[in-house]
Amino acid sequence: SKVPSITLNNGIAMPQLGFGVWQVPDDEAATAVGHALDAGYRSIDTAAIYGNEEGTGKALSASGLPRDELFVTTKLWNSEQGYDSTLRAFDASLAKLGLEYVDLYLIHWPLPARDAYVDTYKALEKIYADGRAKAIGVSNFQPAHLERLLGETSVVPAVNQIELHPQFQQAESRAVHARHGIATEAWSPLGQGRGLLQDPTIARLAAKHGKTPAQVVLRWHVQLGNVVIPKSVTPSRIAENIDVFDFALDDADLATLTGLDTGNRLGPDPATFDMA
Ligand code: NAD
Repeated sequence: SKVPSITLNNGIAMPQLGFGVWQVPDDEAATAVGHALDAGYRSIDTAAIYGNEEGTGKALSASGLPRDELFVTTKLWNSEQGYDSTLRAFDASLAKLGLEYVDLYLIHWPLPARDAYVDTYKALEKIYADGRAKAIGVSNFQPAHLERLLGETSVVPAVNQIELHPQFQQAESRAVHARHGIATEAWSPLGQGRGLLQDPTIARLAAKHGKTPAQVVLRWHVQLGNVVIPKSVTPSRIAENIDVFDFALDDADLATLTGLDTGNRLGPDPATFDMA
């Protein structure tokens, strides 16, 4: 495939660009994931709370692609945090996906006020030891949550999936991840398609390179070393979003994009988010 892989801290290869399926209804997920697989995506990012693990699994099996060419991520939802409930929730996710193992299993949110993420992560360590997840990690963990996890558990998370785009660049988290060998995975890499893709600076860089604004933003992530999981249900955009490996931003372009950081968070603040 044309998508390069990064090597996670346990030696597992993860495609640097994958397909996100948040807000894709289960009955549309098989079609959307099918388009993505046709376009060359091999990594799919779903979650129990997205309600589309079954549709995703159908597309994976219908593709006929060998299991070892696919990279499937799912996530533990908040309501299931805790050791035993995590093991049960993982079983349910695997069954819905129709898989024997996932490539990456993540804790979706830290929920620090509930104080359950350490026990929850110990269940992920058990799943990892049993070979039912090739890698384990977290999502939306801030540096303080990561430091606590590193102090109280044994397996360093392979990945932290966080909100990250040119208007919310997360420099501190990225530095902490780099220090601990944790891969940074960017969610809402396109800023959810709002505002960011209409930015005139990005339009200028797109014209300069003969690419689209979405491609410039995804290329910026790739050159930063982020894993990205853009979402679209439109076949032309699905193909557009993976076509970012035939050009390069130069240092001046990268500096220009670094200048777009407004600290504009689109999603919830993980320090306080506590949705069941
Ligand atoms: P995104 O940044 O990928 O933006 C997607 C939206 O941008 C699309 O719905 C569409 O409106 C627009 N778009 C996509 N491609 C385009 C193109 N080529 N040109 C113009 N517009 C385009 O946003 P997202 O879906 O929020 O994030 C991507 C994935 O990240 C999700 O599907 C999910 O897998 C993951 N995610 C994880 C969390 C988490 O808490 N871990 C939270 C949000 C999203």
